[in-house]
Formats: sequence, C-alpha cells, structure tokens
Amino acid sequence: LNRRLAPFGTTIFAEMSALAARTGAINLGQGFPDTDGPEEIREAAVRALRDGRGNQYPPGPGVPELRTAVTAHQQRRYGLSYDPDTEVLVTAGATEAVAAALLALVGPGDEVIALEPYYDSYAANIAMAGGTRVPVTLRPHEGVFRLDLDELRAAVTPRTRLILLNTPHNPTGTVLTRDELAAVAALAVERDLLVVTDEVYEHLVFEGEHLPLAGFPGMRDRTVTVSSAGKTFSFTGWKVGWLTASPALVTAVRSVKQFLTYVSAGPFQYAVAEALRLPDSYFDDLRTDLRAKRDLLSEGLAAAGFAVHRPAGTYFVTTDIRPLGERDGFAFCRALPERCGVVAVPNAVFYDDREQGAPFVRFAFCKRTAVLEEAVSRLGTLK
Ligand code: PMP
Ligand code: GLN
Repeated sequence: LNRRLAPFGTTIFAEMSALAARTGAINLGQGFPDTDGPEEIREAAVRALRDGRGNQYPPGPGVPELRTAVTAHQQRRYGLSYDPDTEVLVTAGATEAVAAALLALVGPGDEVIALEPYYDSYAANIAMAGGTRVPVTLRPHEGVFRLDLDELRAAVTPRTRLILLNTPHNPTGTVLTRDELAAVAALAVERDLLVVTDEVYEHLVFEGEHLPLAGFPGMRDRTVTVSSAGKTFSFTGWKVGWLTASPALVTAVRSVKQFLTYVSAGPFQYAVAEALRLPDSYFDDLRTDLRAKRDLLSEGLAAAGFAVHRPAGTYFVTTDIRPLGERDGFAFCRALPERCGVVAVPNAVFYDDREQGAPFVRFAFCKRTAVLEEAVSRLGTLK
C-alpha cells in the first residue's frame, strides 16, 4: 500500500459487518437499511435494463434524465436553480463524489478543514490528494454534539483550501442550524474558501430542517453539494450519487471522475431519476418511519444504561458508554456480539485523536421495528 494510504487499513464498516456475519449478531454497525426501497423504483430499474437504457456507457456527466431530475429536486425542495447540462455530475455514490471533488480541488500542502468525528473516507481522500486534514471537533453540549464557530474560524489559515462539511452529520446526528450555516458561509466568503458539503442525509431530519449550504449568500458558486440515492431511497447497493456546483467546479471534478470510473452504471440512473420525482409524501413517510425508530432505539439504549445523544438527523445514534463503566469503545464493540448479540461501531475511528472519541459508540436504526426491538431487549441484558 502506498505511503499516503498506509495509515488507513480496513474500514470499520467492513470489519464490523464481518463480525456480525461471523457471530450472527444483529448488525446495527454499518449503515444500510434491512428493507429495500420502493418496489416501483426497483421496477423502473428492471425496465431500464430490459429496454436497453444504460446498458452501454452512459454519457460522462450522467444520463440527462437523472441530471434533470436532480436539478428539479433541488428546485422543488430548496428553491435552488442548477443547469442540468453544466452544473450536475452523476457519480458512483456520494463516496466517489467526495473523492473526486477533493482530488480535483485539493493539492499537496493544501489544508482541508473537516468536522470531526468525520466520515472515514474523508481522511483517506484528503490524504490521496496530498492535502492536510485540519479537524474541527463537534463536542457534546447538553446532549447534542455542537460545532464551535470560534474554533472553526481559528482553524482557517492562509493554506486553507476548503471546508468539508457534512450535515446532517454522520456519526453524531447533528443537523447544523441556520445560524451555524450562515456563519460557515460568511467565513467561506470572507476567506475565499471552497466548500464541499456532504448532504446524503438531507431527507433524514427529525428536528428542525435541512438547509443546503449552497442556498446561503455568496455560496452558490463556491459550494460543491453532494448527495446520493443510498439513504434517501434505501438503495445503498446501487451506488448512484451526484453533485451540483458551478460549471467551473463541475468541470474540474468531472476531469477527475473521467479517470476514476469514467462513467457510473447506467440502468440505475434511470430508476433514480424516477425516485427523485416521487411525491413529497414519500419523503415525509421515510422521515416519520425513521423518527419512530430513532425514538425506539434511543429509549432502549437509555434504559440499557447508555448516555444517549439523541440525533436530530441521519439514521445513527451516538451513545456514551461511560455510564456502563466502560471507557474504550473499540474493545466494547469487539466484545458486544459475544456479550449480547449486537454489533455497533466505535466512533473513535472517526477522530484524529482516538482518545477523544473513545467513549462514543454508534448504533444504526435503519432496521425493521422487530429487529430494533430484539436489539433493545438484548442490550437490556448488559447492565
Ligand atoms: N457520506 C456520508 C456522510 C455517509 O454516511 C455515507 C455512507 N453511506 C456516504 C457519504 C457514502 O454514500 P454512498 O453510499 O452514496 O457512496
Ligand atoms: N455510510 C455508512 C455508515 O456510515 C457505511 C458505508 C460504508 O460501508 N462505507 O455506516
């Protein structure tokens, strides 16, 4: 493995899903739903395959149907206007979108400010680009992990190239508020920074609302907004993602993507185009369903003795294991399948300073109610 990537090893998600498979434990580690997305959208994928749409290389930026659906969705949900021909790029999931954006925009020596705990691929992507990661840590405050705007401001140096944002935030479930986003935007404008904002959980907000950073003053042309079909439509295996940005930024990212994957798989793009046009009731029902699951798991974890940081968004809940007399989330997660037949993820892997993240453990609640109930009952035997 080359020197830049050597520190990263195997992702925690693969490790913990393998542990779940090996032990037969309930997998609340890796974030994927145990129920597939809408039947009509699966049918749309089958139709595309049968009708020969997308079975050969689709256009580099993505099929026009999907690019148009992405811009229509941005317009309908947030009032943001993008040109489907020049301001959208379809990618192999949000993972490729973030990777290609960082490779396109960050060079050796550039600093990238990332909210910590950070999604694991971010650190690897910044390293691939030769950049330097500058974490700004979200700290628990009255049960919620909060961004300290003074710390963010202090993290900017003359070498800062971009801010890598994520809201709703994995793993903490924090949803940045209007005031916080306005402050990030003002800072980006003042210091002339680009922002890559990962908004894959845009539809999974239970308290407050998701506000795209690109909608704030001065941000439209300095923001790359990333999302994907994985979370919103419960098709994490399809790996259809996209980004929206100014023509100059899309052109830059596209020049990287063409040498990573060239294009993304065709037939699913047509199906996701249909998914993005589902009525608002689809998105409302998804949110209502997951809100109830959040409450079920959060209450169960609290009853089992965890300190629970109830998330405002995403499908993850971060807990603190110290009330259980534990301090090391890694050891705790490795032992948990043996102890009670449940798999979770140690948040420490999302921190530069692992000690800081040590007491935090993440559980996913994108699972059937009966599965969550069983997990809660098993976790109840821990004390
Ligand atoms: N960003 C965040 C914050 C995530 O949690 C995930 C995980 N699913 C991704 C990106 C990756 O998304 P995709 O599966 O679309 O590549
Ligand atoms: N994003 C998912 C999570 O946080 C997992 C995706 C992956 O396995 N890379 O659990």
